[in-house]
Amino acid sequence: MNDIKLALLGSEGAGKSAVLVRFLTKRFIGEYASNANSLYHKRLSIDGRQLNLEVFDPCSQSGESRCILEEPVDWADGFVVVYTISDRTSFLNAKNILAQIKESRRETCKGEVPVCLVGNKQDLCHSRQVSEEEGRVLSQEYKCLFQEVSAAENYLEISNLFTKLIRHVMEQ
Ligand code: GDP
Repeated sequence: MNDIKLALLGSEGAGKSAVLVRFLTKRFIGEYASNANSLYHKRLSIDGRQLNLEVFDPCSQSGESRCILEEPVDWADGFVVVYTISDRTSFLNAKNILAQIKESRRETCKGEVPVCLVGNKQDLCHSRQVSEEEGRVLSQEYKCLFQEVSAAENYLEISNLFTKLIRHVMEQ
């Protein structure tokens, strides 16, 4: 497979755009004003294979995920589900999203879809509301990748995580 399609999902303000922009440009963009769905393209080489990566970053809608989940679930080969470690509501939303992805894919019989759960804003650990263990347990429940990151401070961890997810997609 040479075309890889990923979708970012999560609460408004969880840092989806920041995580994606960090991966695509190595930079942190503090305020990223986007009120429209965005589709990003990147050509990259992983394990000697040339890939066309497309990433769908839907505009958040009042923190609700249900309405934005319908389209990407059918479109994407893999998902990045982002929550903020300092916002329990965003974690509960991520939990719902994981359940919806699982449910939608089961209905369409497309098998297990590669998913990565990301606990963002690790630099705000002084106001942490979700422990790393909770994130790990949730990822084990849904058999997905998991990593806490800081879009504000890390590039390597985010890059490694996307690479792992893309490898999983390529193995499908
Ligand atoms: P989205 O609505 O999920 O796409 O969230 P954004 O990417 O627009 O980020 C929402 C806010 O969180 C912005 O003010 C970002 O600057 C901030 N933000 C994103 N990632 C981080 C992070 O890792 N650490 C901190 N401290 N702030 C972040």
